[in-house]
Amino acid sequence: MQAVRATLAAMVFVLCPALVTAEANDAVRVDAGFPGGNILVQQVEGDTVFVAPDQRDTQAGQWWFYWNLRLRAPAEKPVTIVFTRKNPISVRGPAMSADGGVTWHWLGAAAVKSSKRDDKPAWSFEARVPAGAAEVRYAFCPPCLESHLRAWLAKHKANPALRVKELCRSRKGRPVELLRAGCLAPAKSKGVVLITSRHHCCEAMATYALEGWLDAALADDDTGRRWRANWEIIAVPFMDKDGVEDGDQGKNRAPHDHNRDYNGKPLYPEVAALMKLGASLKDRVVAALDLHCPTIRGEWNDRVYLVGAPQPDFWKKQEAFAAVLERVQRGPIRFRARDCLAFGTAWNTPANYKQGRSCTGWERETFPDARFVSTIEIAYADALGDEVNAGSARALGRDMARALAEFLESPPPLPPSHQQ
Ligand SMILES: [Zn+2]
Repeated sequence: MQAVRATLAAMVFVLCPALVTAEANDAVRVDAGFPGGNILVQQVEGDTVFVAPDQRDTQAGQWWFYWNLRLRAPAEKPVTIVFTRKNPISVRGPAMSADGGVTWHWLGAAAVKSSKRDDKPAWSFEARVPAGAAEVRYAFCPPCLESHLRAWLAKHKANPALRVKELCRSRKGRPVELLRAGCLAPAKSKGVVLITSRHHCCEAMATYALEGWLDAALADDDTGRRWRANWEIIAVPFMDKDGVEDGDQGKNRAPHDHNRDYNGKPLYPEVAALMKLGASLKDRVVAALDLHCPTIRGEWNDRVYLVGAPQPDFWKKQEAFAAVLERVQRGPIRFRARDCLAFGTAWNTPANYKQGRSCTGWERETFPDARFVSTIEIAYADALGDEVNAGSARALGRDMARALAEFLESPPPLPPSHQQ
């Protein structure tokens, strides 16, 4: 019987190769049906899969580069993944995970081939399910989802200097985490430091930096003790929780995105809840940081930098903090104090805010006496030659925590009327 089946299969192959190819194609599946997943499968030709980032909910005419796909195929079978028209692959190539999206590494720029398809530019890489596995993930950058935050929280669950609360429920009813860390006794605290990330839900490296910042405040070392003795951190890791979990890209979301929603009537429950919380904190806030990632490649997308405020007094404080960060940093991502993007330079112009007030715009108005308020941009993959990954982004967050502790402990500059 076995022999008969083999003979029949051979006859099918000779008589009808298309049928055999169709069977092979069924064994190669690319999808986004998991938290954070994002891909449009446009066409499958043999072992080549043509795909594109899913731009759903993005304003018309805008393009962004977030994608995160799962490949299921026979182990070790090479499958070519092809993007056409615009290149959404990072400067360090695709990120790959062989453990279902828990840990990731960059494949490197050399893994990406550029070519033409129907006279249009195309970029491809070879994907392969590892031996003994049923699937593999590839993404624009290492994702950071609720599952990653839960793993981080589990590491710290016995730490009395960390509390997990809920800021609000998202539009789809998901709990939006609010973390309190550091000096949790209001009577002892010298102030509150607000830290947010994922106003643009695809900007995962920002949340790894936020985790590193909290690691520093919880550590059994000098920096940790200074934080726990002096300042309370209130952190919201996922300001667009639904976007993070659903796998949206979130930048320039229609009609405006979460970081242009700090207006009279916010559209998004996370923003409304943070504005309400901020109003209740008022004078207690000594610093506020909103962590982001820039765009995909080119100048200012290749480094870590502070986004300069329009107000000269806030700008001066940003430059002062930048000098401290450059001096005290230890991690593999090097920060240069000169990498502060002055207001009016490159993309940082009034036109960029015409769709609405940003988080830090609201923070500067709500906390006018804060010692430091800044948007911080963290490159997705490569910071002037230094690799950005979950570990190095966390180290950068620890560096920022060490710098801010020193910055807040130094005497504030005297107002101009008191200067000699
Ligand atoms: Zn952003």
